Amino acid sequence: MGCGAQLQTDRPNQAGYIPAAALAKQQAAGGETLYCQRCFRLRHYNEITDVPVDDNKFTQLLNELGKVDALIVNVVDVFDFAGSVIPGLHRFVGHNPVILVGNKADILPHSVKRRRVTDWLRRQASIQGLRPVAIQLVSAQLGWQVPELLALIEKERRGRDVYFVGTTNTGKSTLINAIIKQEAGIQDLVTTSRFPGTTLDRIEIPLDDGQQLIDTPGIIQPAQMAHLLSANDLKIVSPQKEMRPRTFQLQPGQTLFLGGLGRMDFTDGPAGSFTVYVDNQLTVHRTKQTNADAFWEKHRGELLTPPSQAELSAMPAQKRYDFTPGERSDVVIAGLGWINVPARAVLAMYAPAGIGVSMRASLI
Ligand code: GDP
Repeated sequence: MGCGAQLQTDRPNQAGYIPAAALAKQQAAGGETLYCQRCFRLRHYNEITDVPVDDNKFTQLLNELGKVDALIVNVVDVFDFAGSVIPGLHRFVGHNPVILVGNKADILPHSVKRRRVTDWLRRQASIQGLRPVAIQLVSAQLGWQVPELLALIEKERRGRDVYFVGTTNTGKSTLINAIIKQEAGIQDLVTTSRFPGTTLDRIEIPLDDGQQLIDTPGIIQPAQMAHLLSANDLKIVSPQKEMRPRTFQLQPGQTLFLGGLGRMDFTDGPAGSFTVYVDNQLTVHRTKQTNADAFWEKHRGELLTPPSQAELSAMPAQKRYDFTPGERSDVVIAGLGWINVPARAVLAMYAPAGIGVSMRASLI
């Protein structure tokens, strides 16, 4: 019942999951209507959890976006922009307008001007071929700027349906839940009493003019750190509150380790300041490049963690990427954070194979 997914008790993050104990309990009670955990939360708490779906579904879903007349709201994570981009989204949306939402604004240092961040988002989106009609920074978790986003949606949708799209882990579910929480009972923009069409493809939340707000399943971006780490480690590397940048004055021949996941060798170029933007709990360790390999071997899984010792064997090998920025730039390890580096620094970056590593214009 509910979403139509086949029930299963083994994979909590997949469609149709129901905890074995809950299944037994419902069966013992003679229940004929069994719901997966996601439907259960939806029905009883008006809470949406995102489940990933397979590639075919994504393609179907993305193709649908071009055929409907709707407003598209694309949610990205400001901490992991590269990891939260939907490749080719601009081709799929056709002529439909897009609002770009930069979520998790709460993790950016307070001193950063919001205007600067939205300008930066606009440029990054443009590199992806996306020309959003508006950009809104929000914190779904803290409810920041959610009313502003809703006002923007009302302005741009002009009586049309609204599709929310995003890759998994951008906070799309948290945002939809924040919207529902904020609007329920206040001005009836969203009616939360029932959710028709709760299929796995989409969740339709009725708006008061007969149109719908449609939540689509999270699209998987394989280059995300989220797919590599245990839930516990993911918590350590994903900032939950304002990041405190850490600045290092480095000479060529020095190395920075970002826990046991990232490494930057500053091999050549003028000495300068390097500012690290990662979770406040993550160990950032400076050492001489000549000692770096030995240090890594000895301390990875202990001082240099996550991953923990037990998880080391499951980690893909570290892969090297070379960068020499022409101007001050960010070098990014998707989902782990970034280092703001000076011009002409000759760098070798390392991250587990499969994780996106890139260079971009400075965000801050
Ligand atoms: P979804 O896969 O896109 O639906 O993402 P979720 O809503 O499940 O959120 C993914 C992770 O991001 C969770 O750990 C959330 O707690 C976290 N998160 C969501 N919104 C925010 C936010 O505004 N700020 C911060 N710091 N974390 C957030």
